[in-house]
Amino acid sequence: MSDLPSIPSIQTQDVRRTVLVNPNRQTGLTIATATETVIVDPATGSRSFVATNHLTVTIDGTVAVDPTSLCACEVCGQAPFSSEAVMRCTCGRVACKLTCLVTDEYGPLCRVCAAKPWWRKAWDWITDFS
Ligand SMILES: [Zn+2]
Ligand SMILES: [Zn+2]
Repeated sequence: MSDLPSIPSIQTQDVRRTVLVNPNRQTGLTIATATETVIVDPATGSRSFVATNHLTVTIDGTVAVDPTSLCACEVCGQAPFSSEAVMRCTCGRVACKLTCLVTDEYGPLCRVCAAKPWWRKAWDWITDFS
C-alpha cells in the first residue's frame, strides 16, 4: 500500500446509436446503443476495454437484434414491431396485429379500410382482382 494519493484513471467513451425515424411523424426512437469505453490507469499505463450493446425489445416481445427487420404501424404509429406482428393491408398500409387489424368477411383489413362502408369495401375487393 502506498501513501501517495491515487491518480484518477482516464476514460474515453465511443457511443453509437441506431435511431428509428418514422417519416410520417418525424419522430425518432433509439432502438440500439453501443458504447465502447477505454480506461487507462496513468500510474501503470494499463488499459481496459468495456464494450456494451443495448438492444430494444419490440412491443410484441421479441429482442430487436437486426434493426432492418423492424416495422412501424402506419395506422396507430406505434413502433417498433417485429415483422411477425404486422401485416400489409390490401390498401398498402402496414398495420399492427395488436390493435389495428380487423378481420371481417373481406379478410384482414386495417382499421382505416374496415371503417369504410360495405359497398366501398366490396368495390375495392372486386377491383383488386382486375
Ligand atoms: Zn397499430
Ligand atoms: Zn387498409
